[in-house]
Amino acid sequence: MRNVLITGASRGIGAETARLFARQGDNVIINYFRSQSEAETLRSELRSMGYSAEIIKADVSDPAQVTEMFARTEQLCGGADVLVNNAGIAQTKLFTDITDDDWQRMIAVNLSSVFYCCRSALPYMIRKHSGRIINVASMWGQIGGSCEVHYSAAKAGVIGITKALAKEEGLSGITVNCVSPGVIRTDMTSNLTEDDLRALADETPTGTIGTPLDVARAIVYLAGEDAGFITGQVLSVSGGFVI
Ligand code: NAP
Repeated sequence: MRNVLITGASRGIGAETARLFARQGDNVIINYFRSQSEAETLRSELRSMGYSAEIIKADVSDPAQVTEMFARTEQLCGGADVLVNNAGIAQTKLFTDITDDDWQRMIAVNLSSVFYCCRSALPYMIRKHSGRIINVASMWGQIGGSCEVHYSAAKAGVIGITKALAKEEGLSGITVNCVSPGVIRTDMTSNLTEDDLRALADETPTGTIGTPLDVARAIVYLAGEDAGFITGQVLSVSGGFVI
């Protein structure tokens, strides 16, 4: 049984990813920050089906809390064999309206968190000479999103970390990849109207909006045996929005 730590797994893509890993027999560690009751409900749901699940509260933008989260993971199960850096926030604003606080929060939650979590996860993986890191980027980090410059910059940074770290850790038996979702129906996109979503679906070759399960399947694939010779890659899960 592998230990899979998923950041931001109380809701959306992270929660669906936790379900999928649990269903294939992995022990899942569900990180949450604000949504404690959702995290507890998910843990109960998984345990009631006989799966192995733990929850850990931590704000992944805070290096001290990340260090504490990995110490707790070590106590619970020895260490994370798979790390999914999924926690994220979004914000839509004109570039000229982005404040220093907006910028710093966006970079801290979406980009610095990936640095903190990888740094804490790697010593265990290096000792075992195996490990999988999957980062959740975004298509806006590849192609740029209007009115989401800070989000796009953070996600482009996640892609940069993925590629560079993959080169550094390959000989340690560790792969580092990212998924790059397109428009996925979660709380994050709940500010979009049905008309907005239809327009975005019309722009997508598949003619559809994605689901959390679509992204979860790609993450589980990259963490699995079949993806052993894949590292440093950006897997677009966007219905062909980005080709
Ligand atoms: P979501 O439904 O809004 O869920 C976000 C998750 O991130 C929640 O579980 C939340 O936990 C967690 N989170 C936020 N800030 C955190 C922090 N400081 N520390 C720990 N956890 C934190 O969003 P989603 O759509 O599932 O997004 C998941 C990832 O996919 C994000 O990285 C996002 O950028 C990326 N993505 C999403 C889309 C999309 O269309 N939905 C597209 C491209 C990329 P709490 O509620 O417990 O605080």
